[in-house]
Amino acid sequence: MRPQDILLPVASGLCCKPGGFHIDPVRPVERAVITHGHSDHARPGHGAVLATQETLDMMRLRYGENFAGSTQAIRYGEEIRLGDVSVKFHPAGHVLGSAQVAVTCKDTCIVASGDYKDAPDPTCTPFELVQCDVFITEATFGLPVFRHGDAADEVNKLLASVALFPERAHLVGAYSLGKAQRVIKLLRQAGYAAPVYLHGAMEKITEYYQSCGIDLGELRPVKGAKKAALAGTITLAPPSATSDLWTRRFPDPVTAFASGWMRVRARARQRGIELPLVISDHADWDGLTATIAATGAGEIWVTHGQEDALVHWCQSEGLQARPLDLVGYGDEEESEAPTSDEAEA
Ligand SMILES: [Zn+2]
Repeated sequence: MRPQDILLPVASGLCCKPGGFHIDPVRPVERAVITHGHSDHARPGHGAVLATQETLDMMRLRYGENFAGSTQAIRYGEEIRLGDVSVKFHPAGHVLGSAQVAVTCKDTCIVASGDYKDAPDPTCTPFELVQCDVFITEATFGLPVFRHGDAADEVNKLLASVALFPERAHLVGAYSLGKAQRVIKLLRQAGYAAPVYLHGAMEKITEYYQSCGIDLGELRPVKGAKKAALAGTITLAPPSATSDLWTRRFPDPVTAFASGWMRVRARARQRGIELPLVISDHADWDGLTATIAATGAGEIWVTHGQEDALVHWCQSEGLQARPLDLVGYGDEEESEAPTSDEAEA
């Protein structure tokens, strides 16, 4: 069977006609299969949603009880039949509950990996390599300049700065689903035992991580804390808040930002970031190319990000490759508008 008869990019997302569903649709559809809870992949308003329990819970937290007509939870490694195809979920290592979706029809297997990373992350199940015929890869950091390095080293930079400036507050911009919790966990692993402060927009999702058994130590809301008491502390906040009037409640804040984009100095400068931390929840160039090679797939479809360089790399390795031209996906850290919680907190 030709792969394009199994999955086809259409305006509302990646459509599986023989299975009667779309993967991560950007418009409301009858049946959606969702890879993870980030807002560019998990949108409200679908008829039926199939996703991991964690992704369903995050959608409920963000969009309310009635975010979909009906829901069905699926575990990693579980296989279910939808129409003429079988669908199996595998860990993507991106955020809690994130999954790659393997779609098999007759003897052809296509893996839609959503967003993924192969680097270790103590807050989610590690990425699992899945052998397949066609691998659909993201390309958020699909340029050789993007090499993320070790996230633990970046957290040590933050701790060194806290030790150096005990009279200042440290404000770390981090996306509220996944990145913030990973940064907190990395701080704990580095031996930082003091309370970590949270912007109001981080509270619900961080509590949810803790309810899933991810121990993040003592957390406190920053709301209501006295300015002087915030000297020498670390606060996690959505990136949009760190360049806002909101920062006036902190004593002489050092502004940090945890993102793969911080590899690009100009980006840090543009945003007025004093302490760029290269911590990403996406695979870097080495991670993307190593993963593509290891899947054994002969055909690679490249989406949301720097498609051209990765397509070119695949072709130079003798693989068939093409950009998918899906619209509506991108790095949440860059594209997300502040939510109402963020505005008030
Ligand atoms: Zn994502």
